[in-house]
Amino acid sequence: MQEKEKLPGGWPKKTELTCIRCPIGCMLTVTENQDGTIGVTGNTCSRGEEYGKKETKDPTRTVTSTMKVKNGTRPVVPVKTKGDIPKGKIADCMEALKRAEAEAPVRIGDILLKNVAGTGVDIVATKSIGKEKTD
Ligand code: SF4
Repeated sequence: MQEKEKLPGGWPKKTELTCIRCPIGCMLTVTENQDGTIGVTGNTCSRGEEYGKKETKDPTRTVTSTMKVKNGTRPVVPVKTKGDIPKGKIADCMEALKRAEAEAPVRIGDILLKNVAGTGVDIVATKSIGKEKTD
């Protein structure tokens, strides 16, 4: 999302943002009404309407990062959240990843951290890392 501008004033509240559901990038105007209803204009398809509503009421993101690996052939493994987490939990998620350490070997798809930052979403490896040979 690229929030362009929060328009001033009371109700209804209007926000302009760019839909990121496809490369076209339609400019959306999201209107929040006092009764809780939300209207979206500027979208070319229904995915834009869904995106505008979700981004206004419940913004979420998939987080990609890395995690330290103990005894691995590489010091870190790329990871991501298995699903979207609330945008407000991203900093907590990154903090948890900074503290965590996986034990080699790691296989792609392995769950390395359960319920990250209390979101109910797990962290999974997106690459395999072998165990360092010691002899
Ligand atoms: S509204 Fe539809 S066409 Fe426009 S950017 Fe979003 S997904 Fe693409």
